Amino acid sequence: MNETMNFPICQSCGMPMQQDDQFGKNADGTQNRDYCVYCCPNGPENMEGTLEEMIALCAKIETQMGLHPDEETAKERLARYLPTLARWKK
Ligand SMILES: [Zn+2]
Repeated sequence: MNETMNFPICQSCGMPMQQDDQFGKNADGTQNRDYCVYCCPNGPENMEGTLEEMIALCAKIETQMGLHPDEETAKERLARYLPTLARWKK
């Protein structure tokens, strides 16, 4: 967790964005620094998917990355964490 603290975090999936090409894009092609390029390739207004889908997707990727012991644990952690991000807060 600590090494991510200096980077902006995607407000949809929680991924730290460390390089320019990891930042999302607005519909007009400019950089969006609130979201990563995977969540937001074409503007926040065009983002798709539900919180449940995001949890399942992130659980899979993060488990493959070795961040969680297994996918079930990953889902439990993400179900607590993702709702604290701006996209899911309302
Ligand atoms: Zn993201």
